[in-house]
Amino acid sequence: MKIDILGVSFDNLTLEEAIEAGLALARGKQEGAYAVTPNPEFILDARKNETFRLDLSGAALTIPDGIGVIYAAKVLGTPLKGKTPGIDFAAGVMAGMAKESLRLYLLGAKPGVAELAGKNLMGRYPGLTVCGVHDGYFMEEESAALAAEIRESQADVVFVCLGAPKQERWMAAHGAETGAHLLVGLGGSLDVFAGTVDRAPAGWQKLGLEWLYRLCKEPWRWKRMIRLPLILWYALLARFGGKKRG
Ligand code: UDP
Repeated sequence: MKIDILGVSFDNLTLEEAIEAGLALARGKQEGAYAVTPNPEFILDARKNETFRLDLSGAALTIPDGIGVIYAAKVLGTPLKGKTPGIDFAAGVMAGMAKESLRLYLLGAKPGVAELAGKNLMGRYPGLTVCGVHDGYFMEEESAALAAEIRESQADVVFVCLGAPKQERWMAAHGAETGAHLLVGLGGSLDVFAGTVDRAPAGWQKLGLEWLYRLCKEPWRWKRMIRLPLILWYALLARFGGKKRG
């Protein structure tokens, strides 16, 4: 069952269910299915950017990355089962892929980062094959050649880590050309897998304060984050705003 949160339609799954759904796509025959992990920033951007909204709606799997989405869902009266951070989803999918000898391609981040992430991931998930990597700084004209390179690598899954909305645009436009069964938009995850950026400690994650940790580490983000409470305001308006007139 899908739940609409301010124009973005989410799958209502626990983390384990989401991982299983991702693995089912990865094993499947379809080419170019993609998963997106929207946080409140995505939802706000999608209200203004129709291409982004359409790219999100084309996803086979849409799971909530941030605690803000969970709060907004509660305010709307249509709660979601829980947050499913993209990076935890990715970890679960890789653990499953390792057992089934599925092949992973890493696309994104600054030159050198994906290689390092690949080495770390193969160490962490014995049996996982990272069958290719490419940095995320290429021209749109190079996309067809890049997709062909991924197809040649026989990747089952591609992690596309170009930041939003670029990664969703790329998956929608070129996902099928790669021949992969599942592509996942994962923002800055390769930096975390490479160890160049660290993730909030588990205690902060449990409290839903991952955003605060990130803000402390990367204070320049305040300009992007300051508008995020807006999502709760829009949720309140959507739920209660109309009633006054009725
Ligand atoms: N990035 C990229 N190509 C670009 C722009 C960004 O590969 O043209 C990478 C960037 O190096 C970083 C990731 O995309 O690794 C975006 O990270 P950010 O933290 O902005 O994304 P978020 O996790 O907030 O979605």
